[in-house]
Order: sequence, then C-alpha cells, then structure tokens
Amino acid sequence: MSEMRTLISSKPDSYSVFGTGTFRSIPQIEMLSKQQQWEIEVVSHVFPFKVNNYVVNELINWDNVPDDPIFRLTFPQREMLTTEQFSLVEKTLKSKVGKNQIKSVVNSIRQELNPHPAGQREMNVPEFEGDLLDGVQHKYGETVLFFPSQGQTCHAYCTFCFRWPQFTGMEGMRFAMKETDTLIEYVKQNPSVTDILFTGGDPLIMKTRVLSGYIRTILDAGIPHLRTIRIGTKALAYWPYRFLTDDDATELLELFAEVGNRGIQLSVMAHFTHPVELSTSAVKEAIQLIRKTGATIRTQSPVLKHINDDPDVWSAMWKEQVRQGCIPYYMFIARDTGAKHYFEVPLVRAWAIFRKAYQTVSGVCRTVRGPSMSCTPGKVQVLGVSEVPSKTGMMKVITLRFLQARNPDWVGRPFFAEYNVNATWIDDLKPAFGEAKFFFE
Ligand SMILES: *Cc1c(COP(=O)(O)O)cnc(C)c1O
Ligand code: SF4
Repeated sequence: MSEMRTLISSKPDSYSVFGTGTFRSIPQIEMLSKQQQWEIEVVSHVFPFKVNNYVVNELINWDNVPDDPIFRLTFPQREMLTTEQFSLVEKTLKSKVGKNQIKSVVNSIRQELNPHPAGQREMNVPEFEGDLLDGVQHKYGETVLFFPSQGQTCHAYCTFCFRWPQFTGMEGMRFAMKETDTLIEYVKQNPSVTDILFTGGDPLIMKTRVLSGYIRTILDAGIPHLRTIRIGTKALAYWPYRFLTDDDATELLELFAEVGNRGIQLSVMAHFTHPVELSTSAVKEAIQLIRKTGATIRTQSPVLKHINDDPDVWSAMWKEQVRQGCIPYYMFIARDTGAKHYFEVPLVRAWAIFRKAYQTVSGVCRTVRGPSMSCTPGKVQVLGVSEVPSKTGMMKVITLRFLQARNPDWVGRPFFAEYNVNATWIDDLKPAFGEAKFFFE
C-alpha cells in the first residue's frame, strides 16, 4: 500500500515521509494502548493518513487522547469503519496475504464509502473548444475552481475529507491541470467569472515559485472582469510555518502583496475546524503577516461529530477569528462520503448548533452563513425549523434556501421539506405539504 503514507517531520520546516504503520515512530503514540495502535494501523489502510510534527506537538493534547478533537481529526479511528469492514481488513492483514490481495479488499471497502459524492466528476468540469477542461470546475457563475497539479496533497489529512479518493491514488490527479493557458482562455470567454479559486488538496503545499508562476500568468493576462483570487488552504491550521520559516515564506507573502498591488483582491479561504487551531503563537503570527500584505482571510469548516458539534466551540472559534482579523464565512455540513456515519450531524441539530453559536456573537462575526450542504444543484442552507398551521394543528417543516445554485434564479428562494430530525443530507428530505418534488427538481 505504497500510497498510504504517514508523514512526520523532525524539524519545524522540513518533512520526512514514511510508509504505513510508521506513525508508531511518533513518541506520543506510546501513550496509546497496543490495541489502539493496532486499530489506527488497520483503519489507515482504508483512509489516507498523514500528520506532521506541528499537529502532533502543538495542536493535539495527548492527555486528552483519544477524545482530543485534533487527534480525531487527523488519526484514523476504529469507528470510522463498520464492525464488518474493520474485521475484514484486520483478518486480511493478519492472514499475511500478498499486497495485491490486501489492496483488493481495501478497494472493495472504499467502493462502499461513496467515493464520488454530489456529481463532482460528471457535472462540473467545463468544456472548452470541444475538450473537457480537466483541472477546472465551474459550477457557479462567478467562481471558477482551479486544481493546480502540484497542489493535490495537504500538510496533514483530515479524517473526514471528501477528497480522500484523490489522496489514496484511487483517482490519480483527475482534477489536476498544468496549463494555465486554457484556464485563462476559458475565463476570458466567460465574463461572468470574477473569482478564480485555487484549491486542491492544498495549493499552499506548492513552492512559492510554482504558485507564483500560476498567479503571475493570470495577472499578466489582464482579464478585465477578474476581481478576486482565492486560495483555499488549511496551511494556517496545519502548517503556519508555511508563512513563517519555510524557506520561501517571505516570497509567498510578497506574492500576496503583489496581487493586491495589481488591483486584484487576494482572499485566503482558511479552513479552521476547532479553536485550538487558532491558539498557537505560530498561527497568530502567520495571520498577522498575511493581513499585513493586504490579503483578507475568510474562514470555513464543516460541523463534525466528535470534533466541533457544540455551539460553544463555534462561538469561541468565530470570536477568536474576528479577534485576529479573520472573517467567518461558512459552516458546512460534512459531505456524504467516507466515514460519514462517524462524523455526521443531523441537519436539524447542525442548525441548532449554528443558531445557538450565532446568538452569542456580535454582528462582525455574523458574516458566517450556514449550515450549508454542497449538493448537486447547489449550496443549500438549512435556514431552520418553522411551525406552520395544518389541518391537524401546528406542523413542523424544515426551511431551506440556496446560497449558490447551478441556476442563479434558484438562489435566495426559501423552500420547505418535511420535518425529519434524523436527516443528514438533502437526499433524506422530502418536499413538505405533499408536493411531489422540490421546485428545482
Ligand atoms: C463553494 C463553491 C464555490 C464558492 O462558492 P462561494 O459561495 O462563492 O464561496 C465555487 N464552486 C464550487 C463548486 C463550490 O462548491
Ligand atoms: S486540508 Fe482540506 S483537502 Fe486537505 S485533507 Fe483536510 S479537508 Fe481535505
């Protein structure tokens, strides 16, 4: 399983890569029982696993393991597989069969885990001059997603991540594209596009030299309708040294400043899942350095059981973000893929968490929107539970609306689903009032 990697660095600004099972070289792992260590090993055959010394030493509180949120966010957990799936992998590993046989068992389990949610593969890749533009997704008019080929990995892997098939080698670099030229031509011909969003993986895994090659090419193209370059990243949470001590950290900050100086907004779309990720001196310093370049930092995260399914956690997180000058942006519902059952928070409960947290913060934190599902037709926000009169008395319905949609006309129109306290995704919902389908179907 050569694609399964555990990654630990010994120095703050360097990494070394080891094979599966080498997470045992992390000194703190000794604090876990042999059984816990074995469980991590078993599950890491199915889910990608990667962590670094910053996460291990500065974010995880090992006195609190296994309940520690960052431990659960980065280390595979026994309950992420069903009992049957776990036993099958365990049995296969213990039976000392060959690598190919392990691989086929692992792949059959991965296929059960909905590796391609929400029509990502089929529906969002645009066509340009008769060819599919691999490496680009264009779903909502204003914003084009760009997946630079060297940015398809991350500093550490989140256990809930919906991109797991691309980290396990299940789909290679499907969304990767080397050439910016076709991207630029495509954007030029689509005047509705104002934003190019670099995503991955994590684009800040790239050397500054590579990233600046892409960004300067885009700037030099002088696209008249381009307003914002966004960079979606978890580097602030998992590797703030990217902005501090990496050998090209200064050049990265200079690149950010240059974008602004050339009249384009640079927005860092920072992924923070828990307030502890905002607590170290490294992340605080990195945020201030980014802000000094003139770039803005917007924040987003899914709501996840075992990690942040608590209004106090969100309230603390939004307040701390605003205190450090970041702009809270999205609370997401975790996608229906991978270890979904482990992380899932029902929609009604996610809304209750959002609402309770939202009530405790000032207006400057209320830039945040959510909870939002990225579904096939668009980003659907759970506005809440409403009570409406019916023949049998008051009746509950779930009120929803599109924040983003394939068809812009759908945005902002409230619609209603039957109350369902267990629903965790739009597929679980039925239209309210006996309607046969939702208005967009
Ligand atoms: C979320 C998302 C975007 C960006 O949406 P904003 O609301 O503008 O942040 C763009 N494309 C896709 C496919 C997305 O899922
Ligand atoms: S940083 Fe983002 S892309 Fe990378 S593993 Fe985490 S959620 Fe996935």
